[in-house]
Amino acid sequence: MNSCVAPHAQKKTKPSKDRIFGASEAAQKRISEIGADAVINATIGCILDNDENFVVLPTVSKVFRGLKDAEYFKYAPIMGLPEYLELVQNACFSQSRPEGFTAAIATAGGTGAIHHAVWNYAEAGDTILTSAWYWGAYNQICEDMDRHLATYPMTTPDHKFNLAACEEKVREILAHQDRILLIINTPAHNPTGFSLTPEDIENVLKMLENAVAGTDKTATLCLDVAYIDYAGEREEVRKIFRKLSNLPKNIFGLIAYSLSKSFTMYGQRCGALIGVTSDEKQILEFINANKYTSRACWSNCNRGAMDTLDTIYSNPELLDTIQKERAHYYSMIQERGDIFTEEAKQCGLKMLPYISGFFLSIPAKDPEAVCNRLHEDNIFCVPLAAGVRVAVCGVPKHKVYGMAAKIKAAMDAV
Ligand code: PLP
Repeated sequence: MNSCVAPHAQKKTKPSKDRIFGASEAAQKRISEIGADAVINATIGCILDNDENFVVLPTVSKVFRGLKDAEYFKYAPIMGLPEYLELVQNACFSQSRPEGFTAAIATAGGTGAIHHAVWNYAEAGDTILTSAWYWGAYNQICEDMDRHLATYPMTTPDHKFNLAACEEKVREILAHQDRILLIINTPAHNPTGFSLTPEDIENVLKMLENAVAGTDKTATLCLDVAYIDYAGEREEVRKIFRKLSNLPKNIFGLIAYSLSKSFTMYGQRCGALIGVTSDEKQILEFINANKYTSRACWSNCNRGAMDTLDTIYSNPELLDTIQKERAHYYSMIQERGDIFTEEAKQCGLKMLPYISGFFLSIPAKDPEAVCNRLHEDNIFCVPLAAGVRVAVCGVPKHKVYGMAAKIKAAMDAV
């Protein structure tokens, strides 16, 4: 008998092992055996404070809980609440809104935004490009829609963005297809904490422009900014967006924005895909194509999350308080990352260039073996394909001290 699962979906029927949840389960098991104080759980991708409590920005929680019934329970429009579509662009761009036509569509978190980008800006069989250290969901999103993910080495040996490697892959892919979608997760990249400078973004755009020059082909740059609010000074980190001003018509800009980390609303599943172009026709195409896809995927998104943003942005005092609360947690995570980086330098542990953000990574030949060896020290990290991910967002400061040396010892032992 044939499988009831259709042929295109059969590649997905084997049980998949999620490295992150697997590592997190192992940490939980050890905690239940010997207690949380004795275990370092560096697997969790959300913020825990220095007492290991789950962090929700207090004012976001207050606003969300204070909504009226209708603000939670009514349907939202498919595109998203009209006020939200404007406010989410303010939240994303702040003072660096690019010149040109911009529009937003509500999505189910940043994941939903990446989904729409992959579905509507690449076609079946196409190859989509991202850096060699990447968030694993990119691959699943692509494969689920019969697209494929290719990668380039993200940084040069002197820890700069590897534009030449990116260009080589862009040209290789464009030799076989009509359009290219390049996804760059910056600032505060997951899983390394690396960020591109505004000049890097400018160079990437120029490179794309050159790669399609003299052809009918097009290029789309999708900036996944899921961690932008934990990446440094608010306006400084947003300067990358100005580089999307006045794009040539054959270059389209997409931004995947998420309320998950920025407003600690992870489970409320809300974000936005924002389009940027100098071509009015293309912004209308962006709106219509993505609205259609939303209707076909999830219809409309979480109304309470959108109304929360609306309430926050209509009251400057609330917004100011939330920005201060967030700045506090940004500094808390940054301090942990900086302690780890400094200790890594002292003990000779090689790591990917960490600038800011929830995660940092250590390259390893056998990441699984390193992580298993670390279990002997009651340290739990995530083994990725090319290294070990440490989620400093969830490790209290006092437990960060000494971690780098223990990881170095584990690397030397395996
Ligand atoms: N992009 C990256 C790199 C991420 O790590 C995440 C979350 O882990 C997201 C996007 C989107 O997250 P969400 O769908 O929870 O908003």
